[in-house]
Amino acid sequence: MSLKINIHHIREDKSGQIKGQFSIRPQELDLPAPKDIWHPLIFDFVCTNAGDLYVLEGKLKSRTSHQCSRCLLPVEIPLEVDVHEQFSRHPDKEDEDIHHFIGDEIDIAEVLRENVILSLPIKPLCSPDCRGLCPHCGTDLNQASCDCKPQSVDPRLAVLEKLISK
Ligand SMILES: [Zn+2]
Ligand SMILES: [Zn+2]
Repeated sequence: MSLKINIHHIREDKSGQIKGQFSIRPQELDLPAPKDIWHPLIFDFVCTNAGDLYVLEGKLKSRTSHQCSRCLLPVEIPLEVDVHEQFSRHPDKEDEDIHHFIGDEIDIAEVLRENVILSLPIKPLCSPDCRGLCPHCGTDLNQASCDCKPQSVDPRLAVLEKLISK
């Protein structure tokens, strides 16, 4: 299946619309490694003839698998991306926000790919208040506590702490 929208029958119909849905396998968008974080995607869209432009609006839904960046447990993150893109057949439309296309088919693979990558979580978390692992003993602080004390920044204080705890 190709990720193309054929606009032939709304070419002469200003404000004419094409609605549809694509079911997309991650391979079709050539998403970056690691491959196993990706799941199938659904894209619901409306493509509108806006005169000089075709406006693509839609919602892309999927989920991605990660490791929590604090406690390293597996976590699935829902992906929901609002897509808003503009396409034109006129190459003289000098605007980096407008994608150029030729003929009757708009290939949306590349714009969807960009939208997905931009919406990836930078630091995936299992929950916003995940307490993570103790950096000293590795205890999962969501499950248990440990006896490690936070290290003093100032070495003179560390010496004092030692004296006091004797
Ligand atoms: Zn976590
Ligand atoms: Zn610890």
